[in-house]
Amino acid sequence: AAIVRVFRDQGPREARNRSRFAFLVDDWGVARVRAAVEEACGRSLEPAGEDARGPNRTDHIGIYRQKDGRSFVGVVVPGGRVTAVQLAEVARLAETYGSGEVRFTTEQNLIIPNISDPGLRELTQEPLLKELPYNPPEILRGFVVCTGIDFCDLALIDTKARALPMTRALAARLADRKEPLRMHWSGCPAGCGNHQLADIGFEGTKVRVNNKVVEAVDVWVGGRSGPEPRPGQRIMENVPLSDLPEVLEYLARFFPKQRVARARTQ
Ligand code: SF4
Repeated sequence: AAIVRVFRDQGPREARNRSRFAFLVDDWGVARVRAAVEEACGRSLEPAGEDARGPNRTDHIGIYRQKDGRSFVGVVVPGGRVTAVQLAEVARLAETYGSGEVRFTTEQNLIIPNISDPGLRELTQEPLLKELPYNPPEILRGFVVCTGIDFCDLALIDTKARALPMTRALAARLADRKEPLRMHWSGCPAGCGNHQLADIGFEGTKVRVNNKVVEAVDVWVGGRSGPEPRPGQRIMENVPLSDLPEVLEYLARFFPKQRVARARTQ
């Protein structure tokens, strides 16, 4: 509540796309924000604990053994959009094969935990797991998209509607790709899709082409999160979405493979 009060009273309001807590931290710096939060809650805050993140990351997609001998199955929700019918079916699967529990991941995917071995095989044969696969192509596996224009007034492009077909088409063309690839889309500079932390990131914008305003993106590459985070670099600006499939395929085929290969030899 103290953080919310600080943001409510002190957060930037000049432009709607800067009305985010992140921009207040950016403007003030961590020390000043911390002091303001401490003042708002009337006590000093505990210092940060030890960073528990390791060099390896997991997206929880696939089938994994739990410590108690049961398993969990992580499935991809392509583009992070699940229908009510799919969600009801996920609930049925969780009740039938698991303990009725479902978890959401930070990458917009789902986990069904607590599945015993006899149910595991049947679960993986369920039709829903063709739509929400536990063994997706790599291109689809690391794909994250912000809410976009349907539910966000700030969106400059229709991220969900544009990104998913483009990514599915790319996944079909690069079906034999084995290297991980994280592609994140944000519909505006607020960056809810964390495009600066992906191998390839897209930031929505508008551009004028032949006197017509069209949807476009700035392209970022080379970002990463984790214990040694690094923001990506913007390498292209104002790429119309109509031109993007070609650009995307080039980047997906060449740049991240080299980056991953370098990372493994370091
Ligand atoms: S990044 Fe996407 S969800 Fe976030 S404010 Fe921009 S358009 Fe909205």
